Amino acid sequence: MSHVFPRHTKISPPMAASGDGCYLIDTNGKRYFDGSGGAAVSCLGHSDTDVTEAVKAQLDQLAFAHTSFFTSQPAEDLADLLVEHAPEGIERVYFVSGGSEATESAIKLARQYFVEKGQPQRRHLIARKQSYHGNTIGALSAGGNAWRREQFAPLLLDISHIAPCYEYVLKAEGESAYDYGQRAAQELEDEILRLGEDSVMAFMAEPVVGATSGAVPAVEGYYKRIREICDKYGVLLILDEVMCGMGRTGHLYACEADNVRPDILCIAKGLGAGYQPIGAMLCSGEIYKAIEDGTGFFQHGHTYLAHPCATAAGLAVVKAILGRGLLDRVKDMGEKLQAALVAEFGQHPHVGDIRGRGLFRGIEIVKDRETKEPFDPALGLAGKLKKACFAEGLACYPMAGTRDGKTGDHILLAPPYIMTEEQIPDIIEPLKRAMAQIIPS
Ligand code: PMP
Repeated sequence: MSHVFPRHTKISPPMAASGDGCYLIDTNGKRYFDGSGGAAVSCLGHSDTDVTEAVKAQLDQLAFAHTSFFTSQPAEDLADLLVEHAPEGIERVYFVSGGSEATESAIKLARQYFVEKGQPQRRHLIARKQSYHGNTIGALSAGGNAWRREQFAPLLLDISHIAPCYEYVLKAEGESAYDYGQRAAQELEDEILRLGEDSVMAFMAEPVVGATSGAVPAVEGYYKRIREICDKYGVLLILDEVMCGMGRTGHLYACEADNVRPDILCIAKGLGAGYQPIGAMLCSGEIYKAIEDGTGFFQHGHTYLAHPCATAAGLAVVKAILGRGLLDRVKDMGEKLQAALVAEFGQHPHVGDIRGRGLFRGIEIVKDRETKEPFDPALGLAGKLKKACFAEGLACYPMAGTRDGKTGDHILLAPPYIMTEEQIPDIIEPLKRAMAQIIPS
């Protein structure tokens, strides 16, 4: 009997034995194309020796030094590199162990910033429906995914959720994409005014929504308007790029495509590329200065902050992304993957939308293409698709509809940046066979 507490207690997963580029191999020798990079993690594939050598060298040099006593060279170098390429105004990097720690840290930093600034009345966070920001209590409270929140609702913080920017589902008939984006952004101003204009500390959103919606970018103009509203009311803009950042969309930071400047930016997943658990919260010089000029201490922290081996891995990963021309490759391969998906599934009667940016793609499954009505979540189509794809040798990330009647089941694809054009059929063919079994046309 296994003593591991697994993710699903009713399913016995195969045992992963090794990795080979874009493939994972189980102990029976079966190969799986890693079409979702785990959960948008393994951006360099599974056998990147630059990264493994960097981690080994760091382990030999120094495994751990607690941040209440020391900084370390890989942490300093990685912070320098991230800031060098970061959006305007971002000056400091706070390293954590993953995405939830990054968003949780962001919420607490926003709060402490206003306390330090003498505005303790600012305590409200506004986030969006159908979003995911992590599983710890603060991060889960910020997330607007009904299914994930349901049983924990009595424990959650009081956080407002406005509508997401979700063109496929929420844009009205005859409305332009731009007008829709302005209407969606207006909800932020309305909510700030409802809560009291000097009581809101921050707005949190994913530039390209991942797990809950399937690679949904905002429409043009949305984030420009969001930034204007934040500036008007002195509200901080927190962008959660845990899933869509670190090159996934063809930009090191996903918000570059939206031309928006965050005050706080969260990254994880692709930063360690699976070689080490690491995340980071980046913040503006202004926020840092408020802490520096105030108590001089961010009242937060975890034992493994800025772990030397994790930051050494992150440094090797970011150097690889930038140094090997992977951002251009992601853009190019992303367009080819999109074209292949549209060619294969574009006319499928139950595929409503195929979208995304770079190698971050979503396929939305609908019962009816005309009305965009989703299938009944009770059918569990996403789970069945995931299982069928896996049996066919493709690891991908189908997610269930969110039970608010708006989002249907979708499949999220986030393959490694190193995938080749010749490997596109390793995604399309298993997916085609799985779709034929679960959602026949
Ligand atoms: N934010 C976003 C946008 C995510 O997609 C995730 C993970 N799926 C998280 C936060 C939480 O990250 P982690 O699982 O590393 O805690």
